[in-house]
Amino acid sequence: MHTLGLYLSIPFCKSKCTYCNFASGVFPATYFEQYIARLEQDLSSIRVETQQRHVDLPEVVDSIYLGGGTPSLLPSALIRRLFSAIRRSFAVLPTAEITAECAPGQLEDATLGAIVEAGVNRISFGVQSFIDSEAKHTGRFHTREIALRDINRVRRAGISNLSLDLIAGLPGQTRDSWRESLATLADTGVNHASVYMLEIDADSRLGRELSSGGLKYYAPQVPSDEDIADMYSEAVELFAAHGLHQYEISNFARAGRESAHNLKYWHRKPYLGLGLDAHSMLRTRSGDALRFATTDELEPFLNSSGWNHPHRLSREEEIEEAWFLGLRLNAGVSLGALRAEFGRADVDSFEPLLTELECHGLITWTADRIALTTRGRLVSNEVFERFLMVPAA
Ligand code: SF4
Repeated sequence: MHTLGLYLSIPFCKSKCTYCNFASGVFPATYFEQYIARLEQDLSSIRVETQQRHVDLPEVVDSIYLGGGTPSLLPSALIRRLFSAIRRSFAVLPTAEITAECAPGQLEDATLGAIVEAGVNRISFGVQSFIDSEAKHTGRFHTREIALRDINRVRRAGISNLSLDLIAGLPGQTRDSWRESLATLADTGVNHASVYMLEIDADSRLGRELSSGGLKYYAPQVPSDEDIADMYSEAVELFAAHGLHQYEISNFARAGRESAHNLKYWHRKPYLGLGLDAHSMLRTRSGDALRFATTDELEPFLNSSGWNHPHRLSREEEIEEAWFLGLRLNAGVSLGALRAEFGRADVDSFEPLLTELECHGLITWTADRIALTTRGRLVSNEVFERFLMVPAA
């Protein structure tokens, strides 16, 4: 049976974090209702739209992810409306993993009640740092105390499957303060953690300051690349010692608690994204992968309909994706499975590259399995780029 992962983007935030490069922003609450009405409309029309494009849209949903933005800002009535609309359009399995992203300190009791009632069984908290000054300098409102209090609140409300996010490389972060954030996270006993290394790009205010050598947003206090890499390695070790094993470049979990929704992205399983800047991967009736996305500007999104740039992947692009999405996982890629899907000749054309990466200590190649090494994970983007340069067989 084909099943679907459903992603819903809720792009509203209380303030814009300095490091944030997502399509999210601070909008008046008057937009909330309009936005949910648009999602209701998309949910009710998506089946006809996909049929018209000869795209296969599975009816059964086994994972839902409410991301953002800050979905926990939605009032309870809108949470109820959204989930009713989802359940009108799809058959959500009773065992489905249903995640909502929440910001600590930004989850009212009524919203938490509606989230539980709607069947959400997993919460991902964007903590980023348990050090109050680090959280404050990036524009977050919470303190360590508030974050710990909210973790207990959602547990008391009946949701025990929790994930916490941390960022390595925040301004003012030191090796000691990082260790403290890691240890605090481990002490909470959560099932899942994500660690992201600070990204320096033109899509965030802090990223722009760093690129231009500016002084705003405490940019001069951002740790060096070497320190950030060491912090990441420390997270891998400390979490493993606490039973949170790395299963993907940025993700750690207790056995069996890996994110079922996110695994779909890396396993190239079908998912539908609705809302602002939401991405989808579905298959056409002839089996080709089709990727598409919505705009990342709120006003045009609310005043338009449909998808931007549907892109049918060529066979070559599918093989490249199979490599670099699969290699994100610690389990790596099975050569046998790739050959079964794409044919021996096309897969074996990557062998010279694999041999070279193995010589450089960036991958391990054991019998049928190829996986990144610890060093390979630190430079994963450079490794993945190499897979794009291999000429087709
Ligand atoms: S809460 Fe999340 S989405 Fe919103 S600005 Fe901060 S990092 Fe970005």
